[in-house]
Amino acid sequence: MKAFELIRPTSLEQALDLLPKPAERERVRVVAGGQDLYTEMKDRIVEPDQLIDLKRLPGLDRIEVDAAGNVTIGALVTIAALSEHAHLRSKLTVISEAADSIASLQIRNVGTVGGNLNQRPRCWYYRHVGAHCLKKGGTVCFSKEGFNKYNAILGGGPSYIVHPSDLAPALICAGAQVVLAKKGSSRSVLLEKYFTLPSEGDPLRETVLEAGEILTHVNIPAPSPGWRSTYIKFKERGSFDFALSAVAAGVVATGGLVRAANLVLGGVAPIPWRSASGEAKLVGQKPDTAAFREAAKEALRRAEPLSDNEYKVALTKNLIERAFSRISS
Ligand SMILES: Cc1cc2nc3c(=O)[nH]c(=O)nc-3n(C[C@H](O)[C@H](O)[C@H](O)COP(=O)(O)OP(=O)(O)OC[C@H]3O[C@@H](n4cnc5c(N)ncnc54)[C@H](O)[C@@H]3O)c2cc1C
Repeated sequence: MKAFELIRPTSLEQALDLLPKPAERERVRVVAGGQDLYTEMKDRIVEPDQLIDLKRLPGLDRIEVDAAGNVTIGALVTIAALSEHAHLRSKLTVISEAADSIASLQIRNVGTVGGNLNQRPRCWYYRHVGAHCLKKGGTVCFSKEGFNKYNAILGGGPSYIVHPSDLAPALICAGAQVVLAKKGSSRSVLLEKYFTLPSEGDPLRETVLEAGEILTHVNIPAPSPGWRSTYIKFKERGSFDFALSAVAAGVVATGGLVRAANLVLGGVAPIPWRSASGEAKLVGQKPDTAAFREAAKEALRRAEPLSDNEYKVALTKNLIERAFSRISS
């Protein structure tokens, strides 16, 4: 690993003062738990000169719930703390279950919410120091014609990565917004709009985070009365692994009909993939297998599998049916 300078600011203002101008973006990086960034640095995928360590910033390691049930999660809250939070477990189960599904307890104890949402893709071409792929400034996404078992079936092109975060689909399902701070100001962005498709944004990045910005908080509105939610993830290795496919689902069903539905897919697209048309298929229907099957079919209607990942289509349909069955019974 290349030597680097570690700077440890003790206030958000200090940290924001230290953040890079656009031209220095690759030279100066922020680090939280380091579970992803240090791996990239050890593999020489990124080689910053300076790291701004966020771990000493006060107040960002808290989960707060107001009287109305709105939740604020600081960017430095660990994945383990999310998983252990009683209010989230009972009212926003999709988030607790997504946190439970991430990596190992050791990684959950160190990895943070801000780091999880901003972690980089796991595509093996991206992670291979010898492959100068599109995500690293090259001209070709090698997965398109190469080994693509783990890659995108929805929203792919020109890059076919899948977004690796389990928290992202769950938080989008719960209607989360993120707060992005920079020197002198801050802005709120719906988490669903935070992630960018490679065809729409800069293929070198996955989010709208600008140089000089830090993600400081995630805000989640109080769920509607009766909202039930779940996260189901399918992984290749039982102990811990990234999602081959995952489903974050939420539903309000009263009087024998679905009144509201949320459906966000993980592990199948370059961004957490919200299926508004799949949700629409459920609203007004009886919450039964036929309706779930229609929603699943619709959510995958535009899937364009690559040579080795057609299995993800049937798998994801199955997970969607299972998720809605679980929360509608
Ligand atoms: C073996 C292994 C298995 C894993 N399995 C899973 C899994 O199944 N599911 C899953 O979702 N994740 C998984 N992860 C990823 C892990 O959860 C993330 O690496 C971790 O959450 C990153 O958090 P961190 O705080 O360590 O981030 P860091 O490594 O510190 O940072 C990651 C990236 O985010 C940026 N960043 C960090 N904080 C902020 C912030 N507040 N604002 C802006 N940018 C920021 C950093 O600059 C860096 O680019 C796995 C990781 C490992 C090593």
